[in-house]
Amino acid sequence: MFCIECGKEDEKLFEGLCHSCFAANNKLISIPPELEVEVCAHCSSLHMGDRWQETKQSEEDLVAETIAKASVTDVNADDVVLEIDLINQRGSLLELLVKANGTVLGVPIEREFKVNVKINRNACPECSKYASGYYEAVLQLRADERLLSNEEIQTVDGIIKNLLEKLSRTNRMAYLSQRLMLKEGVDYYFGSYKAARKISNALKEQMGGMMGESPRLMGRDKSAGKDLYRIWISLRLPMFQKGDFLAHENHIGQVIDLNGRKIVSMDLGTLENISISWRQYDNLEKVASREDVKTTTVTSKSPTEIQLLHPETYQPLDLPMILGLTDLNIGEEVEVIEIKGKLYIIPPKKDIIKDN
Ligand SMILES: [Zn+2]
Ligand SMILES: [Zn+2]
Repeated sequence: MFCIECGKEDEKLFEGLCHSCFAANNKLISIPPELEVEVCAHCSSLHMGDRWQETKQSEEDLVAETIAKASVTDVNADDVVLEIDLINQRGSLLELLVKANGTVLGVPIEREFKVNVKINRNACPECSKYASGYYEAVLQLRADERLLSNEEIQTVDGIIKNLLEKLSRTNRMAYLSQRLMLKEGVDYYFGSYKAARKISNALKEQMGGMMGESPRLMGRDKSAGKDLYRIWISLRLPMFQKGDFLAHENHIGQVIDLNGRKIVSMDLGTLENISISWRQYDNLEKVASREDVKTTTVTSKSPTEIQLLHPETYQPLDLPMILGLTDLNIGEEVEVIEIKGKLYIIPPKKDIIKDN
């Protein structure tokens, strides 16, 4: 028996060839000469099979992986290693030289392949939703019986910005697709309902108010056979803000704090703090606003009474002395508020701290 290629005799033959002729004829690996990679032009997602996947890989690595996946190693080849070099790039078309090294029957073999890879830059479904202004939920920020203050809008904008930054690290749909300033408030359109919900809860926790939610039917997704809903979340900030004055049961008080759980009102008759739950909101009456506060001067004081001048009429007025006002001195300026014809002294801040 002899090798049909080189004529060598006395050797074990493989498919009629000697060991070195057999190795020399092996192509080691087959690589398709034309390949395509689809990536998102806006984010780092890669289209693989029938799904889009986020990837941390560089474009070079993606190309290498695509080539490796599309290659089929010959059954007789072992230890095949690919080395890929870019030889030319025209736009999205890459010309690559792939060197394959391996062994066949223990004989080292090297092969070279020219491979063209086309990189298709498209938009992944999430980025196309973002680009088209897609949204799942709308947060309608309003204030009850008044307009929102600029300060409130700024606070809300800040909270939303911070939270979106955090949420978008794990939820690609956590984006603000639109912010509409309306006469009656602000509408925030969110890509993700989940994110909108988290943000609304955080806003209520910090600013108080009443929250409601209602789905709206937007149409039907025929391909999925499902109704399409979008969620409207309404957050109505209370008619009062910190510093405003409330009547509650038989108390007249100043709002000194409010959050998602309660409203804290300082009773102006006793200077004690009262917690009011949001369930009682409908029983509250705003009786004066923080802008109505005036200043006047203490003209005399006794253990039972404190006298001051009415801020508008300058008539002297005697008010009962209460704990928390005893440190006021004659001649000192104090803040006062007139509510339903009655004047109340607002204790200086240091006294509130001391009494608590
Ligand atoms: Zn031979
Ligand atoms: Zn994308």
